[in-house]
Amino acid sequence: MLNCDCLFCKIIEGKIPSSKVYEDDDMLIFKDIAPKAKVHLLAVPKTHFALLSQADKEGRVMLSRIFEKIPQVAEQNGCGDGFRLVINQGEAAGQTVRHLHVHILGGETLGW
Ligand code: 5GP
Ligand code: ZN
Repeated sequence: MLNCDCLFCKIIEGKIPSSKVYEDDDMLIFKDIAPKAKVHLLAVPKTHFALLSQADKEGRVMLSRIFEKIPQVAEQNGCGDGFRLVINQGEAAGQTVRHLHVHILGGETLGW
């Protein structure tokens, strides 16, 4: 279920524009507005939850499909030499948007 106050729910609904690179019934993958690497994509499940610990069965299925899809989408978007996945969980980790999202970073040699 979507959440009317959530930025990423609004992007999923098309109320806020985004540069989409992949979409299906479970997920949307789009370009981060402030890229931290040459390629920086965000993969979001099409149901609203903020933390891994809050995922219900539907959310867990969507997450597993996201992880299945990421290698193909990453390769198609310039990350054929490798990519990094990041999921910030909670304020102390720097999570600013409280709709779970997987950062996909690549397109260059990444420092740790
Ligand atoms: P977090 O800090 O929660 O892990 O990641 C949130 C990410 O969302 C940040 O990398 C930020 O640049 C990105 N972001 C914030 N607002 C927007 C937006 O309106 N559109 C897009 N495409 N990305 C956004
Ligand atoms: Zn949301």
